[in-house]
Amino acid sequence: MRFLPVFLDVQHGVVMLVGEGDLARAKLRVLASAGARIRWFSTDNNHDLGGLGDDEAARIEPASGDPLTAELNGVIAVVCAGAGDVGPAMSARAKALGLPVNVMDDLEHSTFIFPAIVDRGDVVVAIGTGGASPVVARRVRERIEAMLPARIGELANFIGRWRKAIHDLIPEFALRRRFWERVVDGPIGALVLAGRKDEAESALKNIGDASIFAGARPSGEATGAVALVGAGPGDPDLLTVKALRALQDADVIFYDELVSPGILGRARRDAARIPVGRRVGKPGIGQDAINRLLIEAARKGQRAVRLKGGDPFIFGRGGEEIEALRQANVAYSVIPGITAGFGAAAQFEVPLTFRREALRVTFLTAHKASDAEMVDWSTLTDVAMTIVVYMGMTAATSVRAGLLGAGRSPKTPVGVFARATREDAAAAIGNLDELPDLVEKVAGGPAILIIGDVVAHSAPARRQQLTQIASFFQVAAE
Ligand code: SAH
Repeated sequence: MRFLPVFLDVQHGVVMLVGEGDLARAKLRVLASAGARIRWFSTDNNHDLGGLGDDEAARIEPASGDPLTAELNGVIAVVCAGAGDVGPAMSARAKALGLPVNVMDDLEHSTFIFPAIVDRGDVVVAIGTGGASPVVARRVRERIEAMLPARIGELANFIGRWRKAIHDLIPEFALRRRFWERVVDGPIGALVLAGRKDEAESALKNIGDASIFAGARPSGEATGAVALVGAGPGDPDLLTVKALRALQDADVIFYDELVSPGILGRARRDAARIPVGRRVGKPGIGQDAINRLLIEAARKGQRAVRLKGGDPFIFGRGGEEIEALRQANVAYSVIPGITAGFGAAAQFEVPLTFRREALRVTFLTAHKASDAEMVDWSTLTDVAMTIVVYMGMTAATSVRAGLLGAGRSPKTPVGVFARATREDAAAAIGNLDELPDLVEKVAGGPAILIIGDVVAHSAPARRQQLTQIASFFQVAAE
């Protein structure tokens, strides 16, 4: 992020606009719609306002003379659009004075840039690409436009008018936030969005006890809850919509070592983030301590998210945690995530079931050699079964021994998929006999092992076959 998005109050000062033609007029419109007073140095001396309303036109002061020597008293920002060579020169002048300056389509000479804007009255969304691609910004804007209810600005305005009164009524911040969430997400918000503001107004007036409405206990204390949330295998875009909402609503997030920074980046900015997982070389704080933290947070009235890699119920200790929460009588919910095995299968195109070739899928863990010893390998001999092994890197040799010992063919296709769906994902494909070498090849975890004939259909296996065919022809040609 090179530019910090902020919303600038342009009503207390003058914005200096330098330039001509449609480009300058487009900037006039944006600035005027934000209520700015604009001093316009038209470089071709044509001050035609191109059909702006009277109200906006009244705030535009046509200026003549050389902008490079003009008086800058009271100027709070400088904008150059369609200004030609005057742009960079004006930029140098503004920079020397510490004034924010934008030269259209010229990052080098700009200290601020204009975002693409979704304007719904009090709700304004600004989209930036650091100046890299206005077209991408516009596409993002279209999506946001489509997503936002038409009257979202009216909803913000409605709340804005009640804000002070509710602030006095509910001094406690967390409870007040919940109050507004219940307004926004509930029938009152729906009335505003449906254009029935008067009804919304009287519904809000009739709420009675605001603390009870906000979900407080009779004691006036807020009730908290814990959400066990699956974060998916790594790519933040693989979060579910529900997971995203929980992250956006959280007061505190207890996260595992498997949760990527990109995913935490999608959480509410003010949420406290507490790592509770094992770190490389360091043990975690332990399951009992985690359970205690979750219970304490909920009892304090916080909305806690227990964020786990993949899915909470696949080798994620979600079961232990809900047991503890049940015992402590703490409200909780479980939000599933895409488990690593599914993430890897999708990314590397391994159909986990396939016609008659694979009719069953087994998820198992073989964290240590001792876990691998606990697996009853004789139940895994069905050739029409795909086996997905979690935490299997260090026990690769035992996994191989177990399956070979049970009679699986050493030629069974095997894939080791590391850091699936992350930017540095890697795959190594081969057969069961080569499993320990394949684990070495991917250079670091986390990695999942997929064992079964279906691995031969995967994208990396196909690439390998194509290279082999190519080199065969090359050798033949030589
Ligand atoms: N609850 C998680 C699994 C936790 S166990 C889930 O549903 O995915 C941790 C193991 O998950 C790791 O040892 C590794 O085998 C696997 N894993 C997690 N993230 C992974 C990723 N991005 N790529 C490959 N394997 C991953």
